[in-house]
Amino acid sequence: MIVIEKVPLLHFSPGSVSEPVDIVIDSGLIKAVGRDAGKNWPEAERHAPGGYVSPGLVCSHNHFYSMLARGLNVAIKPSKDFAQQLDHMWWRLDRALDEEIVRASGLSAAAEALFSGVTSVVDHHASPSFIEGSLDVLKEGFDTTGLRGLLCYETTDRNGKAGARAGVAENRRFAKAVDAGRKAGRPVMVEAAVGAHAPFTLEDDTLADLASVCAETGRGLHIHVAEDKFDAVDSRHNHQADIVARLDKAGLLGSKTILAHGLYLTEDEIALMNERDCFLAHNAQSNMNNNVGYNHQLPSYKNVVLGTDGIGSDMMASANWAFFKHRDAGGPLWMDAFLGYMQKGNLLLERYFDGMKFGRIEPGYAADLCFWDYDPPTPLLDANVAGHAAFGMNSRMVRSVMVGGRFAIKDRQAQFDAGSIMARGREQTLRLWKHMEEIK
Ligand SMILES: [Zn+2]
Repeated sequence: MIVIEKVPLLHFSPGSVSEPVDIVIDSGLIKAVGRDAGKNWPEAERHAPGGYVSPGLVCSHNHFYSMLARGLNVAIKPSKDFAQQLDHMWWRLDRALDEEIVRASGLSAAAEALFSGVTSVVDHHASPSFIEGSLDVLKEGFDTTGLRGLLCYETTDRNGKAGARAGVAENRRFAKAVDAGRKAGRPVMVEAAVGAHAPFTLEDDTLADLASVCAETGRGLHIHVAEDKFDAVDSRHNHQADIVARLDKAGLLGSKTILAHGLYLTEDEIALMNERDCFLAHNAQSNMNNNVGYNHQLPSYKNVVLGTDGIGSDMMASANWAFFKHRDAGGPLWMDAFLGYMQKGNLLLERYFDGMKFGRIEPGYAADLCFWDYDPPTPLLDANVAGHAAFGMNSRMVRSVMVGGRFAIKDRQAQFDAGSIMARGREQTLRLWKHMEEIK
């Protein structure tokens, strides 16, 4: 049992700041919250961190496999559009991944997420030369550091039918392994979704296979859609249907479905997504980086969540990128809407982690917490939390991070061996870059 003493609660959405209170934590859950609540548990381990404590942040779309592409020092042919960028860069990178590189990517990316105050990451993984067992290897990063997550394998037909079948099988295998662990009474910190790359690299028979894995395992699809215009055009040209209609026809839309990007979806497609209660994962930095355009329709979606799409895991930065890009594009939303989107990642987690509650500091919720060293120069109030988040707060203020009642970062010190994780990352990066040179 742990008691966090006398710290104000900071909820980003809806914005609120409390008086200093105690938080009592037991078996991974928040047991009690209130002034002097800790007095009833005199034997508990105690911490008085100062600053503010918020629920841990959620990254709802990421690619940990791209971690070791940071500062990539490989000759990449210039690309004139997004399709070439995938071909020249990302598909060359994912083919170059092997077991050791996936392991090192997962470890270093999980460590960095925690340092950013992120307690849960929804990942979308691809390593076509190492498919079977890849999600277990990726999960090692989560297990070692204490990060919570939701993993899937990006099934695709772009490397042939055997590759597609192996992708489907890896999703099924991993989901069943999660179920077996739960059945054996092990606490589940990493859940499973059913992954697929994007509609333009998926044939109808593969969509049908993915739908049967979703039905069999009770999980939802996690896929890119209309990240660029050509995905939408391809669907109409080759499948005589809009993307969302095609996925719906295959039985792939439900309340656990995560569709990333969605820049070129029609009003009818958005209405269908909303009717099926799906999530849209918005990734502002990535869309800007790829020059694919902007998702002007964010206010039309029922469930928007935020991700980084592989550009680190700093969600406070990501919410800021999303907000400032929206302002730049002349949109009507204020920062509170983007904090609301970030908060919605907790609803996504709740739909996968059956019976658990996330994203509030209240009894019964998971003890996933972020402690902020923030001494604001202006009053921090219920009404102006969004203003502080947009114009002042950032991940360098993260002092400690707790996931499931255990500190992963405490007083800026990782509770895992962050030094060797990063050293291992740099070492495997050299192998990755060499592989990429070889397979051009
Ligand atoms: Zn992505």
